[in-house]
Amino acid sequence: MSETTTSTELDNGLPLDMIIFGGMGDLAMRKLLPALYSAFQHGTLPGSTRILSTGRQDYTRDTYLAHIEEHVRGFISKDNFDARSWDGFLQLLVYVKLDVQAAPDFSALAKAARADAQRVFYLSTAPSLFTTICDKLAATGLVDEHARVVLEKPLGTDLESAIAINEDVGRHFAESQIYRIDHYLGKETVQNLMVLRFGNSILEPLWRAPNISSVQISVAEEVGVGSRAGFYDGAGAMRDMVQNHLLQLLCIVAMEPPTSLNADAVRDEKLKVLRSLRRFKLADIARDTVRGQYVRGVSGNQAVPGYLEEKNVPQDSSTETFVALRAFVDTWRWSKVPFYLRTGKRMQRRSSRIVIEFANPPFPLFHQQGGAVANRLVIELQPEEAIKLQLMAKQPGSGMEMQQVALNLDLQSAFQQRRAEAYERLLIDVVRGRLTHFMRRDELEAAWEWADPIIDGWQQLGEKPHPYAAGTWGPSEAFALLARDGFSWFE
Ligand code: NAP
Repeated sequence: MSETTTSTELDNGLPLDMIIFGGMGDLAMRKLLPALYSAFQHGTLPGSTRILSTGRQDYTRDTYLAHIEEHVRGFISKDNFDARSWDGFLQLLVYVKLDVQAAPDFSALAKAARADAQRVFYLSTAPSLFTTICDKLAATGLVDEHARVVLEKPLGTDLESAIAINEDVGRHFAESQIYRIDHYLGKETVQNLMVLRFGNSILEPLWRAPNISSVQISVAEEVGVGSRAGFYDGAGAMRDMVQNHLLQLLCIVAMEPPTSLNADAVRDEKLKVLRSLRRFKLADIARDTVRGQYVRGVSGNQAVPGYLEEKNVPQDSSTETFVALRAFVDTWRWSKVPFYLRTGKRMQRRSSRIVIEFANPPFPLFHQQGGAVANRLVIELQPEEAIKLQLMAKQPGSGMEMQQVALNLDLQSAFQQRRAEAYERLLIDVVRGRLTHFMRRDELEAAWEWADPIIDGWQQLGEKPHPYAAGTWGPSEAFALLARDGFSWFE
């Protein structure tokens, strides 16, 4: 069983009120409440915590708890579930009925929250509500120097809208109180990448051009657009995935060593990467980017519809469900090293990984044995987290035949500790006031500055996305993008 009640209190001695706007929504049910439960069960949530879910519906305490039972429990793994701590967790929960648009102020929330608490506001609603929520929180006197606000993505649809959100939230919260969440930064393997790079003297000298010949960052989803068409069709893969998750991963691969682990020291280095990303002109967009849209196909042995046949997708939509592109980071370290980014829906399998491909040995000693295959460092993020270094080795026996073998950094057996999910880890960071793994305002805006011209360029070029069958790895043009440089996607 768990360490249920041995929680650590906050350094400032205040009790914690976690207030979730959109507290009855999909994200809260599937991710936030299971993560908070797990933190509670393992004693990392302060014992003084209360969780206030806000929403517009009427619930009595009984119907609210019944809803939580029905919609949250299924997202907690059996191994992680404990009846006694679950009962304890339910005691922390409070429902507050609040229509953030209709309510003239948030006095209903002020009544339910504790006057002397450390308040964390998690905005898990459409971003169009962020301004109203922040204005009314401030007007009701709920924003003090201890308050923190967590912003869920998408943070804007372009630079202009991102600036507007930042301005509106920034009127009431200092930058040090704002946590822009990107759950990829909460993954153990992603955080481990910094240790791998900067905590090992054998890797860091190699981590540059010309020792590294290319970098691949691929985030493949097996699912289609599902019930998110209303949002997704106006966004597409570039805004939904590349501008945030993939660029954040790229930053961690490409950043210079920070001077410390201080949040701003790390974020300064990530910002430099974003600012060094080569801007795309129209000719680059035509040559170095591929947009795709899935058509009907087979996924998990089942026939599945194409994107245009999905519910709530306009029949003539030219929204991309797939993007592949070749980017360059124009710095001394990364001169001429291509960074291939790829993401898509309805791909063959769910898999996210970063692949660092090293240069071939300078002299082809083994050309009669078929030549050496380039060494690769493969960082698997999904569905399993793992780190493998692919090296060449001699096949046992006479002769000098070679084979690629993987040196597996078996983190599961090396560390017996429980590995928390990304949302749990990040929520605890918020509670403890640790900003390192959250995006700073200038990072967000720099990411849009790079992405906007690509999105605009696609519009100007007016090309439809390339079709690809559901259940495949995307359109053939995405393979050609790498093949012309002598590379291929790592599957
Ligand atoms: P959702 O299921 O539609 O939930 C949003 C919630 O907002 C609803 O439950 C609704 O609560 C509440 N809401 C809407 N209008 C309101 C109002 N006027 N006053 C008070 N509450 C209001 O959406 P979601 O999937 O949870 O996503 C929430 C946010 O997270 C979105 O920005 C989304 O893009 C982002 N996100 C979601 C996921 C995911 O996996 N779901 C992943 C990444 C990011 P009531 O209906 O109870 O009033």
